[in-house]
Amino acid sequence: METTAAFTGLRCVDCGERFDVEDATHRCPDCGGVLDSAYEYGSIALDGERLAERPFGSMWRYEELLPFPREAAVTIDEGTTPLVDCPAMASEMGVGRVLIKDEGRSPTGSFEDRGMAVATTAAREHGAEDVALASTGDAGQAVAAYAGRAGIDAHAFLPARSNHTNKAMVNVHGGDMTVVGGRITDAIAAYDDAIEEEGWYPLGAFATPYRHEGAKTAAYEIVERLGWEVPDAIVAPTGGGVGLVGVWKGVSELRELGLIDELPAIYAAQSAGCAPIVEAFEEGLERHESWEHPDTICGGIEIPDPEASPLVLEALRESGGGAVATDDEEILESAIAVAKGEGVEMGTSAAAAASGAWRLAEGGEFGEDDTVVLLNTASANKDADVLRSHLMGKGI
Ligand SMILES: [Zn+2]
Repeated sequence: METTAAFTGLRCVDCGERFDVEDATHRCPDCGGVLDSAYEYGSIALDGERLAERPFGSMWRYEELLPFPREAAVTIDEGTTPLVDCPAMASEMGVGRVLIKDEGRSPTGSFEDRGMAVATTAAREHGAEDVALASTGDAGQAVAAYAGRAGIDAHAFLPARSNHTNKAMVNVHGGDMTVVGGRITDAIAAYDDAIEEEGWYPLGAFATPYRHEGAKTAAYEIVERLGWEVPDAIVAPTGGGVGLVGVWKGVSELRELGLIDELPAIYAAQSAGCAPIVEAFEEGLERHESWEHPDTICGGIEIPDPEASPLVLEALRESGGGAVATDDEEILESAIAVAKGEGVEMGTSAAAAASGAWRLAEGGEFGEDDTVVLLNTASANKDADVLRSHLMGKGI
């Protein structure tokens, strides 16, 4: 199995045990904890100058900080998305700068492509013939694309409420799709039954060690594009937390490498209709309590039982950030305001980051010179009908 020079294998975030990448493919064999890629950072000679010589063409430009080399990767040139300055928002929020990391411009229109590239590479290296996951939609679309490219069969379990683009593109990429009535919890239950029976290779977030590993590259790009200046805050729309945990790992690694001195405050933005992370953060809990009646139009982040919540909550607290919930009306309004005012197309779920940032700004959380980065995790093209319906409903 081909791995990069500084990659030393996997480490369990719960018990600390280390495992060889060939032996441990998913959760910790000892305790069931999440496995995380480990590196010998002292041996990585990477700096701004060296990176500046490489084309800003895909996230594999940071291959020293990934487990697998570019030549072994299943890749569609994901990553290296734009960081768009949004001066009108900055002025409205009363901060120095607002930038949107526009992951909507990824191969399948969402940030999930980063993690799926690394996770599918691992699956192929492990000899998997079938990969599977349950997803609110975007990861289903991504797994179908990446597995298809790798010549692996993909099995995606999506709730019926997933958007049309997600469902259509799973089919178009040649994936096997099971649409399950109800919500994500129902899709997960159907997936759990199937995986037990079929023995497929799981690619769910935090089931494989590699989804958050790929997601971390978004943080490298943000900091590099800011000239190695660390933003004061990064606001991430949060469901299961793979993006947020990845970004926190990414900035922490840059500090470990001596490329930055400070770390940004990380904020989780959720819909008030399903906000188990926000609730746990506010109550000072180390892990969430399952959200009993999830009800939000933001299907992409409607995760009532985010099992990696301890990692998310740790990132929020260690970074000095926080968690914010806004209601669906505010989220839809924010997506529309950003589209109108800045031209950036934020997906409905992703726009929780915009409405959350507005709420945080109103609450005095940011300073007047602060640089605030919002993660736009998915393109508005995927659920343009939801945003347009909101406009029509208001008679605009
Ligand atoms: Zn363990």
